[in-house]
Amino acid sequence: MAVQAAEIPQNTTSAVDLGPAVALSCRECGERFPLGPVFACESCFGPLEVAYELPSGDVEELRRTIEAGPKNIWRYAPLLPVPADVASHPNTNPGLTQLVKADRLAKELGVTGGLYVKDDSGNPTHSFKDRVVAIAVEAARAFGFTTLSCSSTGNLAGAVGAAAARAGFRSCVFIPHDLEQGKVVMAAVYGGDLVGIEGTYDDVNRFCSELIGDPLGEGWGFVNVNLRPYYGEGSKTLAYEICEQLGWEIPDQIVIPVASGSQLTKIDKGLKELIRLGLVADKPYKIFGAQAEGCSPVSTAYKAGHDVVRPQKPKTIAKSLAIGNPADGPYVLDIARRTGGAVEDVDDEQVVDAIKLLARTEGIFAETAGGVTVGVTRKLIENGQLDPALTTVVLNTGDGLKTLDAVAPTTGPTATIRPDLDAFRAAGLAG
Ligand SMILES: *Cc1c(COP(=O)(O)O)cnc(C)c1O
Ligand SMILES: [Zn+2]
Repeated sequence: MAVQAAEIPQNTTSAVDLGPAVALSCRECGERFPLGPVFACESCFGPLEVAYELPSGDVEELRRTIEAGPKNIWRYAPLLPVPADVASHPNTNPGLTQLVKADRLAKELGVTGGLYVKDDSGNPTHSFKDRVVAIAVEAARAFGFTTLSCSSTGNLAGAVGAAAARAGFRSCVFIPHDLEQGKVVMAAVYGGDLVGIEGTYDDVNRFCSELIGDPLGEGWGFVNVNLRPYYGEGSKTLAYEICEQLGWEIPDQIVIPVASGSQLTKIDKGLKELIRLGLVADKPYKIFGAQAEGCSPVSTAYKAGHDVVRPQKPKTIAKSLAIGNPADGPYVLDIARRTGGAVEDVDDEQVVDAIKLLARTEGIFAETAGGVTVGVTRKLIENGQLDPALTTVVLNTGDGLKTLDAVAPTTGPTATIRPDLDAFRAAGLAG
């Protein structure tokens, strides 16, 4: 299977139907290539992204079409690289998760301008990864792949397994061997093949790149490698939903977790598209990236004022974010700096505290990545980088049930008693 755009004939128009997507374009040099399973520019090796001919008609009609659409990401099909009849294909149909007005959390953090949690634990496999995989599945179908694969920090493997089962693909996914039990079981239960690799995520990713170039990987669609340009577009739906749920308005500040950095960069792309289309009013917004201290290559570069991201060897309980060599790290730096945001990190103890804070104030049980965003939000307020008087959206990208080990040692029954009233009285819990 072609890896580099060079292997696709240059002067053919794209034969595949991926709706408004018309080409791939290089993020670095702008060169265009036909739609295909390629991710790196032939000329400069820059990452490719999807280029569109977006709807140009009456914006109010587009708004009505979206609002009357399916109650999932396919309501935004006119803005995504998917065919117009996508909603009729077998897929997990993620999205339109709750945007929770988090007044009690706001009070604890001192936010007065309105605080919201975008709770993506409500997706089919309980993480934001269902969004990106749903788009990659449509690309895999268009390009004729029969096996779906990925290198994963955990959530992606589960999302690929589930989507493959629903859509009738074979799946074979790769994870670091030492992930949380919840992630491993979720990745295996859908019946595809799951391979633990003895190494870090960065080793898994390097292995997958080799597999793509080898006959062993022939006919495989790796959602986050050779299908990465399409996969990435799924994260735009977070931007679309947040704005629609706020009454078609961009929030002033958004706090986003950073693993490879794809999600953060595509949320920014989604916001810019909404402005260009006239679906929201143009206004300044600040984008903040959140990492765990034990894997903080991007926040380290941000604080040092560097443009390049130096790889790290991850050691943190936030395993879903444990990418030591993030592909989109430099773009995250650009966006944080351009919008007036920042990239910050918190240590594992702060992650656990933040998971409990969110649970106790809002009834939302986040996985460690949600602890990272809430913890970083608190830190950014304390150090004056995030303005508590402005409207702020914090992402929770996964479900606490998948990372029970993070909180289990410090969370449990208040008391264990005999079944009688005297024992209950003695426990001091009445009233
Ligand atoms: C994958 C993942 C992210 C972010 O991933 P990017 O590689 O930065 O797009 C965030 N939260 C969770 C829970 C994830 O699984
Ligand atoms: Zn290029």
